Amino acid sequence: PRGAILSGPPGTGKTLMAKATAGEAGVPFLSVSGSEFVEMFVGVGASRVRDLFKTARKMAPCIIFIDEIDAIGGAREKNSMRSNDEKEATLNQLLVEMDGFDSSDHVVVLAGTNRPDMLDKALMRPGRFDRHIVLDKPDLEGRKAIYKIHLSPLKLEFPVSDVFAGKLAALTPGFSGADIANCCNEAALIAARHDADFVELKHFESAIERVIVGLEQRSRVLSPEEKKTVAYHEAGHAICGWYLKYADPLLKVSIIPRGQAALGYAQYLPDDQYLTSQEQFTHRMIMALGGRVSEELNFDDITTGAADDLQKVTRMANAMILKLGMSKKLGTIVFEPKDTNMQVHKPYSEETWELIDAEVHRVIDDAHTRCKNLLTEKIKEVEKVAEELLTKEVLTREDMIRLIGPRPFEEKNEAFKKYLDPDTKQQ
Ligand code: ZN
Repeated sequence: PRGAILSGPPGTGKTLMAKATAGEAGVPFLSVSGSEFVEMFVGVGASRVRDLFKTARKMAPCIIFIDEIDAIGGAREKNSMRSNDEKEATLNQLLVEMDGFDSSDHVVVLAGTNRPDMLDKALMRPGRFDRHIVLDKPDLEGRKAIYKIHLSPLKLEFPVSDVFAGKLAALTPGFSGADIANCCNEAALIAARHDADFVELKHFESAIERVIVGLEQRSRVLSPEEKKTVAYHEAGHAICGWYLKYADPLLKVSIIPRGQAALGYAQYLPDDQYLTSQEQFTHRMIMALGGRVSEELNFDDITTGAADDLQKVTRMANAMILKLGMSKKLGTIVFEPKDTNMQVHKPYSEETWELIDAEVHRVIDDAHTRCKNLLTEKIKEVEKVAEELLTKEVLTREDMIRLIGPRPFEEKNEAFKKYLDPDTKQQ
């Protein structure tokens, strides 16, 4: 092949993979970023592409790696008023160079992107980037293997064990390779800051939190009333999750303000799964509403604290109705805007439009009612958790079990079974 596209979310090792390929092949490696070609001045990008390929031909055999190729290779817009001449000239030059390879040119072009859907189809034609390699986020076992690599240079209390790496992997669903490297490094820094002799599990736990939600902001002082609101809000989410079968299990809930989570935040443990059932979807919506509903039940007034939650709920309801065919009234039809001018030309009738509106409302109202019923029934538990949160600021899964008993269902999550259940707790 002349070229291949490496696609995947940020931090999954596209650049590393390209470098490793060059290393294995024992050839020089030229790395550029797509954004380097995008300049204000017309013609500069194209001439840079020409120079790059000229150098590559001299060094051949070699591998060129173009990161963020979507910066130049994004689909050429057909109807846009303001076409980007410079970007198009750069893209065309790239295509010309790749077409100009003959079989004696031993230059392979790899390109990285996290938006493969955005790329111009012309790039994917045979003889150009015709191979498409997907690098996805690692699953539980994948993360465990990556942890083992990044744990090995750290000074730990015990030699790196399967159980320890597995436990960290279980605690960090959705982490990419780069996140894991970052987390191990943070843990070592935190241990050093505390003058610890070893990097321990608690250091990893703070590091994981830091990677997910940012640094604690102890300087952000909440008034006692605000703190109480946040505690009851978070307790509402936590209780909903605790008694809903398909909600993700809770690991920790905290009301210490942090970088991205303005007020409180909770850490859950989603399963590595690829399909979500309708009931699961509904349970997630109920759980997201738990904060606001708890405020409604426990205070005279409601706050802006639920803004993010409501956005999430609305997005989920829209997805159910518009994309997933989860409304009996509308049937299994996808309502997707055909082009960006949807505001002008709606692809469906006024009645359908009204029905969509009504169905989205119904789905959210149903979830709200179920949430309210649940939290009214469990109002004592909400209070217990909220008051404990007010005094301790952080509650773990163990604290929750102590306060309100274990969840009434078995944890289905593989990570729990394998690495987090009490009998595998000791290292
Ligand atoms: Zn919330």
